Amino acid sequence: MANAGIYINGEWLQRGESRPNINPSEPEVNLGNYLWGNRDDIVTAAEAAHSALGKWKKFSPESRADILRTAGNYLLNRQEEIAIILSREQGKTLVESRAEVYRSVQIFHYYAGEAVRTYGVYARGMRSNTDVIVEREPLGVTALITPWNLPLSIPVWKCAAALAYGNCVIYKPSELTPEISVILVKALEFSGLPNGVLNMVMGSGRELGEELIKNSDGVTFTGSGATGAYVVAECAKRMVKVQAEMGGKSGLVIDKNSNLKLAVEVAFNGAFYGTGQRCTASSRIIVLDEIYEPFVDLLIARIKGASVGHALDENTEIGPVVDKNQLNKNFYYLDKALNEGAELLIGESATLDDANGYYFKPTLFYTENNKLKINQEEVFGPIATIQKADDLEHAIAIANDVEFALSSGIVTNDLNAANKFRTSSKAGMVTVNLPTAGLDFHVPFGGRSPSAYGAREQGFAAQEFYTEYKSTYTHINEDF
Ligand code: NAP
Repeated sequence: MANAGIYINGEWLQRGESRPNINPSEPEVNLGNYLWGNRDDIVTAAEAAHSALGKWKKFSPESRADILRTAGNYLLNRQEEIAIILSREQGKTLVESRAEVYRSVQIFHYYAGEAVRTYGVYARGMRSNTDVIVEREPLGVTALITPWNLPLSIPVWKCAAALAYGNCVIYKPSELTPEISVILVKALEFSGLPNGVLNMVMGSGRELGEELIKNSDGVTFTGSGATGAYVVAECAKRMVKVQAEMGGKSGLVIDKNSNLKLAVEVAFNGAFYGTGQRCTASSRIIVLDEIYEPFVDLLIARIKGASVGHALDENTEIGPVVDKNQLNKNFYYLDKALNEGAELLIGESATLDDANGYYFKPTLFYTENNKLKINQEEVFGPIATIQKADDLEHAIAIANDVEFALSSGIVTNDLNAANKFRTSSKAGMVTVNLPTAGLDFHVPFGGRSPSAYGAREQGFAAQEFYTEYKSTYTHINEDF
């Protein structure tokens, strides 16, 4: 029997067609078939969510907080078991999976706190004897559309915030990570979430997207720019509130006044951890001319020493890419970069052999021209470029010279250089002496157009999307 993938109104439904779940470390292994829903399931899920809304809105802040805290504890108590499932299904290393599970626990606990911080504003009205109360109300039924690269923590940062602020949810996970998506729903089911408040429909985004948008009061999307543009346009047609977080091409500047050992570690981590499959990956490394030679030698040595292999092997530092499409995409960009004249410093030879897993070695190109496609398009794999800059101004200009505006970073011991970079970067998130990826959950997360659209996610910023203001005027009628 296939594994359930459709959860509506508190029930796991056994219907529909099923699809295999392939282990990217061992592609011949099917981890189980999972049921996929259709457009009718979205309509049924939306009906359940709309009917549960009134009840969930009235739940006390304390009860909502208890449910979110319990869901976090459910994940915490099973951290190792869930980390193994995540590594097996998505291909990230065990270290990365443990960190993602723990981060998801922290996010649940954070939003348990946010659920009780339901502050509004009181103001004296402009007219005599008039008061104004400004409060935030839930947005309503929110559709969550999520990618495969952080298949637990991204859905958690969306649904924990949605639930904390009193919304009901229809969750459409990535088709590549069904088992971890089921675990998230089980955590909330275990925590006593009332039926209908959270519903999940596994399946093809192309097939389900339009129906999801039609049946929700707001859509929160994370994924590629192309899908994001479609989602935003469909939401606009229907006047549905939308939040979209999309791709990046983050520039990391290595200043001449930097600790080289730290710089190499920051660059290696930023470019290649998560097998480069992070929207905030440091895919362009920009090095000041004075220190280029020693830096590049150390970085190449670091890449040579990295172990690429099975996600469940404790010694693996770089796991496989998520699936064959992603592997082919990496080879496509490898060829493109070579054809454009980029110089391969270290990395993959140009043969495709995925017999034993979807592995692609960390790859570094030297380029002199930031306009090459390898410097302008998101690969979403373990491929980075390195460029030389004449001075800090030149380095900042290169870092900003892409369409994307998600994250950027600098490694430097010079406070003035750090400050200049921070104030000149066009990205939504900036790091100093840290990788451009792997950011915190208690502050706003997100890029600027076209890497993002709408309100920021995470931290205190999340309420901008998940709530709507209401201003109520009261006149104290003493004269009549
Ligand atoms: P994707 O192909 O755009 O898919 C994202 C989600 O959208 C999946 O659930 C997908 O379903 C669904 N989808 C596909 N077509 C749809 C449609 N027509 N209508 C509605 N939903 C649709 O992206 P991905 O390959 O999963 O993820 C990689 C991308 O995500 C990269 O570009 C990366 O930069 C970005 N990302 C951004 C952030 C951020 O916060 N900025 C974080 C992580 C990842 P299926 O699984 O069925 O295709």
